[in-house]
Amino acid sequence: MIELPDVERMIDAFAGYATGKTVSVVLIDDKETVDLDGGRAAEHIQGHAIDTVERHGKYVVLRFRSEVSLVFDMGTDGEVYLESQTAPPRDTSKIRLQFAAGRELRFASSGTAGDVYLIEGNDFSGLGVLDNLGLDPLSEELTAPRFIQLAGSRGRSSLKGLLMNEEVVAGIGNEYADEICFQASIRPDCKVADLTDEQLSLVHKYLRRVLRRATLHWQAAHADPGWLINRRRPGHTCPRCMTELESLSLVGKRTYLCPRCQRAA
Ligand SMILES: [Zn+2]
Repeated sequence: MIELPDVERMIDAFAGYATGKTVSVVLIDDKETVDLDGGRAAEHIQGHAIDTVERHGKYVVLRFRSEVSLVFDMGTDGEVYLESQTAPPRDTSKIRLQFAAGRELRFASSGTAGDVYLIEGNDFSGLGVLDNLGLDPLSEELTAPRFIQLAGSRGRSSLKGLLMNEEVVAGIGNEYADEICFQASIRPDCKVADLTDEQLSLVHKYLRRVLRRATLHWQAAHADPGWLINRRRPGHTCPRCMTELESLSLVGKRTYLCPRCQRAA
């Protein structure tokens, strides 16, 4: 499952190359699901340079100098990556943007529909998905008081459900939600209404710390012996106290926690 740090790494790998480059040809591989007619793509993208590459939650936004933006929804397994034009596209290839130098930017995803959008101007309001998307967890807007306020309106949810709710905070998936709860020493199945403001502040602090670390130092974070994320397998033990991890299904997802280190509210 794609989570925010994965999208950051993806962007890091192509943004330096693609920013400022002009797209010479647009190839739509999956005409069934890419809701973008060739005429609009040719008019607004072909012959135009990519101005900036941005991320919001799990969306990758390519802003063009022609005042349009191409938005990719990463869904559960989306990937944006650079490849040589001579390499055959994957079966899940959706769209390819070719540059004159022989490389191309590809978007592949097993998503069925609605994962590529062309936005004209700066108005993202017509795009329901981005409209309803919560705050980016790494943005300055997500302060502790704001997080506590958002949690206040979702009292009946579990803590993990709150963290994974895209309308509250965008881009946190199953594994990082568990990691945040583990680092904050709170059980993911706690009801949000039962948590104190101090506990929610602690969750907020580790939410930012875990995601920032995973984004900036992915390899180190994933090799950290103190992280739960490396031990997500049945029968494995807690990295802190060596108690056997508990596994349960929460928000429809396989959840791991330490029954000793993580407290109920
Ligand atoms: Zn433990």
